[in-house]
Amino acid sequence: MDGAELRNADVRIEGGVIAAVGQGLDAAGAEVLDCAGCVLTPGLVNTHHHLYQTLTRAVPGAQDALLFGWLKRLYPIWSRFTPEDFALSATLGLAELALSGCSTTSDHLYLYPNGARLDDTIGAASEVGLRFHPTRGAMSIGESDGGLPPDTLVEREDAILEDCLRVIDAFHDPAPGAMVRVGVAPCSPFSVSRELMRDAAILAREKGVRLHTHLAENDEDVRYSLTTFGCRPGQYAEDLGWTGPDVWHAHCVKLDAQEIDLFARTRTAVAHCPCSNCRLGSGIAPVRAMRDAGVTVGLGVDGSASNDRANLLAEARQAMLLQRVAHGADAMSARDALHIATVGGAAALGRDDIGRIRVGMRADIAGWDVSGIESAGSWDSAALLLAGPSSVRDLFVEGRRVVSDGRIATVDMAAPLAAARRAVARLAG
Ligand SMILES: [Zn+2]
Repeated sequence: MDGAELRNADVRIEGGVIAAVGQGLDAAGAEVLDCAGCVLTPGLVNTHHHLYQTLTRAVPGAQDALLFGWLKRLYPIWSRFTPEDFALSATLGLAELALSGCSTTSDHLYLYPNGARLDDTIGAASEVGLRFHPTRGAMSIGESDGGLPPDTLVEREDAILEDCLRVIDAFHDPAPGAMVRVGVAPCSPFSVSRELMRDAAILAREKGVRLHTHLAENDEDVRYSLTTFGCRPGQYAEDLGWTGPDVWHAHCVKLDAQEIDLFARTRTAVAHCPCSNCRLGSGIAPVRAMRDAGVTVGLGVDGSASNDRANLLAEARQAMLLQRVAHGADAMSARDALHIATVGGAAALGRDDIGRIRVGMRADIAGWDVSGIESAGSWDSAALLLAGPSSVRDLFVEGRRVVSDGRIATVDMAAPLAAARRAVARLAG
């Protein structure tokens, strides 16, 4: 990802770490996987998702709605979710990401009906085998307080902060190579109070964890900020401690030049979600300008209810195409988009141990078979976003084979798929 592309090279993995990279490595004592006909990239990094939404894809009545109307259609359905639904949707969503070459994902879970806990998704991630950055999201302003979500989906603010502490103490691992790191993530400035935004930032810094939320997603969002807070989203974030190298914001479609400058100066990162932005008609995020200004940008598939597909390689392709729609064919190259999907995502999540195939980095590697129909005729198979394939042949995470020959190797998916059909019938019923 730093410009060096090796041909006919070997990678040796030892104990979850990349031990050697180069041609003709000694394979003595190693289990050998023949990757002839493949391109190897770092495992892709997903910086924004709502895994629970995997059970509410393509819901009639929400398919063509704008953001706020879309939320109002889906809130009553989500309020019927059980803890098992959260675990199941996480298993499905994580497996889908893995097949698209994603080895590390963040998740933003901000509603906890019927006894659900962040713990439900963390168990699923360890089974599927992805490196996981779950964030403890929250909403506290319900309909009766003039907010958007029904009162049944909001929590008391002291209970939210208490549970943030609980999940950080129980699951957050700051060590290199960590498989789980927890973040703090009130849903958005329009679903919690100013005080909670401020207190969440203080708590996250006391505990040394990262901060995440939705920001400046569309025009309605900016209008809400101007009307309710008397300032633009960037100003609101800055005033409450929500800028800095430990913060990453989802979307940021409507950041203006001053806000881009603010993000660059404070090293605040962005999770760019191009398919979701297209799907909800939010607009084209100024990614070219952000990158030129030095802002850290990662990619996010966003929740499956607003994409509705969680293919991270396709997301990178969409990022590339969308910048070209706005700024011309040279606005973003395929390699640029792959850089955002790997190195950019790792930086947005504050990780210096993933995102590159290099000695000493964690062994998170995606193997793409470029010998098939989708790639036939390619003059540059490493430009994965211009032609196929659209899913991986093999995926290693921490040296463990999560996808093998195009199938999930860690979990038998038959049971979760059957459970998903039952869950949709029940939730629709
Ligand atoms: Zn989102």
